[in-house]
Amino acid sequence: MAQKHEGKIALITGANKGIGYEVARQLGKEGITVLIGARNPQLGEGAEAKLKAEGADAHFVELDVTRPETITKAAERIRAQHGRLDILINNAGVVDKGDGPPSVADLDAVRRVLDVNFFGVLSVTQAMLPLVRNAASGRIVMVSSGLGSLTWNADPTWSFASIKPLGYNGSKAILNMLTVQLAWELRDTPIKVNTVNPGYTATDLNGNSGTQTIEEGAAETVRQALVPDDAPTGGFFETGGVIPW
Ligand code: NAP
Repeated sequence: MAQKHEGKIALITGANKGIGYEVARQLGKEGITVLIGARNPQLGEGAEAKLKAEGADAHFVELDVTRPETITKAAERIRAQHGRLDILINNAGVVDKGDGPPSVADLDAVRRVLDVNFFGVLSVTQAMLPLVRNAASGRIVMVSSGLGSLTWNADPTWSFASIKPLGYNGSKAILNMLTVQLAWELRDTPIKVNTVNPGYTATDLNGNSGTQTIEEGAAETVRQALVPDDAPTGGFFETGGVIPW
């Protein structure tokens, strides 16, 4: 029997464009209320308007994952308006020009990337977790990357073996650790915590050089957001199945 998702509440960080926007669009089509996390109000409101024009119940929420006051305010607003959060998608992420392989990576660039891609996710997740616990079947999805796989980074024959920005790849590896540990902590609850490699997708992050469409890039994250209660938790997935840590 097809599951019913109508009426659920989802928060997507970095949802004003790229993969996050597409995830919001697809969840909106399921009848889910989508909260469009964005750090720039103008861009967030623009995304909200576009999604509303397509019939989605979309609402901009100001959320800069590096600014704790916006995270606290967003959590308070969601608690007051909905009392729970069924789906949290930690999608916001950055790359940095100063990032690079370990011998030359600029330390400040590595810190900037970790700030958004790891500490940002950790602080949003901690703030939203009480609301996810209030949902009947909470789902937390981390938008990671194949570049965060230690196994693949160690494989010289991997097609992306030469892509070694320490900050970015490291941020996704520690995001994967967060996923495994949080899933373990929540093992006796209905909450699923999984991490996803979207695949190389044409977005602003890579100057639109990605080989996948945005729909393909969003697919596994959407699937993980909607998995049933008997689905696995604490896994690393891409379209087509499980991938190595
Ligand atoms: P994108 O088009 O550049 O979108 C990134 C989003 O994150 C934007 O909405 C951006 O907001 C937001 N963001 C950046 N810093 C933020 C902050 N401090 N607070 C809140 N939001 C912030 O990139 P994308 O490709 O869709 O990336 C989405 C996720 O997929 C990222 O986590 C990325 O690492 C991951 N990923 C992408 C690919 C790929 O090939 N594209 C592959 C693997 C993984 P602004 O518009 O304000 O900058």
